[in-house]
Order: sequence, then structure tokens, then C-alpha cells
Amino acid sequence: MKTALTGPVRVRFPPSPTGYLHVGGARTAIYNDLLRSSLGGELVLRIEDTDRERSDEAMTRQITSALQWLEVAWDEGPHLQSERLERHRERALELLEAGKAYRCYRTREEVEELRQGSDKALRWEVLRLPAEEQERRAAAQQPYVVRFRMPQGSIQFHDLVRGDVNYPPEALEDFVILRSDGTPTYHLSVVCDDLDMGITHILRGEDHVPNTPKHIALIEALGGTMPTFGHLPMILGPDKKRLSKRTGAASVEEFRQQGVLPHALYNYLALLGWSPGGDLELMSRQEMADLFTVERLIASPAVFDTDKLSWMNGQYLRSLPLAELMPHLLPFVEELGLADAERARLEAAVEFHRDRAKDLRELAGFMVPYFTDQLDYDPELCAKFLTDPALPAQLEELARRFAALDPFTTESVETSLRELAKELEIKAGALIHPTRMALSASKTGPSLFHLVEMTGQQATARHFANFLAFLRENAQPTEKS
Ligand code: GLU
Repeated sequence: MKTALTGPVRVRFPPSPTGYLHVGGARTAIYNDLLRSSLGGELVLRIEDTDRERSDEAMTRQITSALQWLEVAWDEGPHLQSERLERHRERALELLEAGKAYRCYRTREEVEELRQGSDKALRWEVLRLPAEEQERRAAAQQPYVVRFRMPQGSIQFHDLVRGDVNYPPEALEDFVILRSDGTPTYHLSVVCDDLDMGITHILRGEDHVPNTPKHIALIEALGGTMPTFGHLPMILGPDKKRLSKRTGAASVEEFRQQGVLPHALYNYLALLGWSPGGDLELMSRQEMADLFTVERLIASPAVFDTDKLSWMNGQYLRSLPLAELMPHLLPFVEELGLADAERARLEAAVEFHRDRAKDLRELAGFMVPYFTDQLDYDPELCAKFLTDPALPAQLEELARRFAALDPFTTESVETSLRELAKELEIKAGALIHPTRMALSASKTGPSLFHLVEMTGQQATARHFANFLAFLRENAQPTEKS
């Protein structure tokens, strides 16, 4: 689909560092990233840390690290909004001098009372004090705020996602741009920064729609090029309310900890509100950038589907080149105490198991038996083996035969196991299942004979010995039938 927009663009992502990067914020960053990549231009990262009480430097680092992990690369910044407050104040004073803003000496209570008592929008006409009273309060150096004078008339804009939006005059009020302590408000800061940073397109969450007429009026008053706005719909949780921690993971960090690959999360979030057309789903970064157009952004809210993300993660776990997969897996492997695992062997085991893993954490867990001497057998999982009095002797014989095999291959292991089962007049399964448990402390996994070969002759012998000791220590009397 062709887009009506032309580049190069200057877009921005301006998170407030008051918490972890939420997937909604991450998706906004992703669409700005894609818009920049598709049309050319720059993405500016701006940290909106003016709310000193709620902002936190650790969170700023957390957010930049989450963006880096997602590989959302900004071209400029991070700019700290808190370092630009003087500039914002300067611009407010310009507006004051030009009569586009005014000192408002009304107390908070008075403003509230006026709001209750009048059905008119709170504008200069309603808020103004009699001249004498205004002078008295000024002379007494009472605190005041600086309010922006909203223009008369309605404010319209064309939203890239929602189409035409119209705010009638009665919905527009004069709003504060400098607080009584002289600090700029969000509306002033965001507009000054967008103007100074030459932002051409503002793609942000739909919670900002009501702010947009304010910002448009401010931009007109300050003089500058009007950016184009687009507001992205919310992401809903399974309860159809705004996605939040209540119903599971909601931050990029949580998905990272769970073992989701960054590209899987990027791809999944990109599709949560944008459709490339057709049934294309798994896409490289380049493909997404090539196909991205704002015209295909979806205006209705999207429901976060954990199963779909999990499926997509599995797809990338299987298909990524090993060299790309390993750096993402290693932190999880190290967390399990396997930092010293021999690289070639680890890679072989990863290749062997990656088809079955749903995430990096699980894949790392599959590595444990290959690099650990003593596995933790779960008596509950082993209940059936613990009540079979014949099993220890059978496994002991199997272990002896495995130890003598030369070569030790998938085929020789299989032949040997099946021969023993035949001699003992038991089903092969009666040896296969406990062997799997001995070697992996799990009831499920990849093909057993491959698993034995992969484990290697020495480790197999060690696991058998430990498993036999476990069986003998925990043996239960046979249940009467
Ligand atoms: N700092 C604002 C936020 O985190 C974003 C403001 C904007 O995009 O204009 O919600």
C-alpha cells in the first residue's frame, strides 16, 4: 500500500521514567522506529523526567536498556527534558508578553468553585478577577500560575490513525503552562521540545488525544511548523481492560526475563495494531520497514494474546541462525550455573533441543543434564519406577552394556537397548522411559536414542549410577493390585 506521507521524518519517543517500559510504550517506540526506517529521517529519544518525584534514574537506564534490547535504535538523544526547563520558562514568558498567556491569581479552590458554578469552559472571561483584586493580589505577591489563553473557535486536526478529530470551543479551556513555583507543565515542555527538536510526526498513545488541541494551539501561538499527529489505540489484556500487571506480564523486562527473543516481541508488538496486508506474520526488520505505512495502522484496540507471542517466539527459536540465537540464550544458561559449559557441546545440544522449547528459559533448562553431574530426580515423577522391584537390576545391566559400546551412536544404543528388552522379555518402553528419566530428570523430551548419544558415554554412565542410587534409596513396596 502506498503512503501519503513523505520523508524524511523527525519522530520522537518520549517516555516518562516512572516505571518499567510497558509493552504499550514499546509498541509506540516500534511504530516510530518503523516510520523512520520506512521514510528515512531520525528518531529522537527524549526522557521526560520533569516529574522529579516520580522519575527515577534507574528507570531511565531500564528504559534505554529495554529499547536497546528490542533493537529500537534512536538517532539522537537521549535528551533529558529536565535540562531544558529554563528554555520552557523562557517561551512561557514570551507568550505572557505577547498577551497569549496571563498570570492567574485564582486559588485552586476558586477555580474549582468556578468550574462547578458555571457551564462555560474555564477561559479568561470566566477566570479573570476584577482589576482591583488582581492588583491587590499581585501587590501582595500572592502565588499565581501562568495560563495559556485558548483561541476562540473549535480546533480540528487530521489524525493519521483516527481520521478527522474536532474539538468544539466549549470543550477547550485555558490551561496552566507555568505552575506557581515557576516550573513548566507537561503541555508546555512537550510542545517546546517538539518544536525545538524539529519533530515532524507525533505518533503516541490515544490517552494523549485530549492533549492534542492544547498542543496545537500552543504550537500556533509559539510559531513553528505544525507536526502531523497520530494516536495509537490501547492494548487490552484478556479482561478487555487496559493491559496491566493485573493479568500477567506487561513490561518489556518481564518478557525478557521469561525468555522471549527480542525480535519475537518486536514482531509481535508491530502486528498488534498494524497489518502489513495478506497473512504475513513472521517478518524481518527490513521487511517490516519496507511494508510499514501509517495507513495500515488499525484504529480499534488490540487484545494482547500471550499464546500468539509464545508461538511466534517458538518460530524464531527454531529458525534463527545459531550464531544469533546463542547470545540471547547464554544469560539463561549462565543463570543455571552452566557458565563453563563447553561451547561446541552446548551448541550441539541447543540444535538438538531448540525445536521443542517454547522460550529461552526452557531451552536453557534442557541444557542442564548435559553439563551437570547430579540431576535432581523428583520422586513424584518417578513414582512408577520406584515401585518396580525388577527395574534396578535391569537398568544396571543396560548401563553395563552402554558402557561397553564402541562406537557409542544412536544406532548402537538403540540396538543394544532393544536386544536387552528382548532377552528380558519386556517391552522396549520399560527401559526407554526410565532411561529418559535417568538422563534428563524429565518424562518428556526428544528421541531417546539421540538423547543418549548426545549425552555421551561417560555422562550416561554417571547419570545411570546416580539414578540407580536414587531408586534404591527411595524404593517403595509394590502396590497391591
Ligand atoms: N511522556 C509522555 C508519556 O510517557 C509522552 C508524551 C507524548 O508522547 O507527547 O506518556
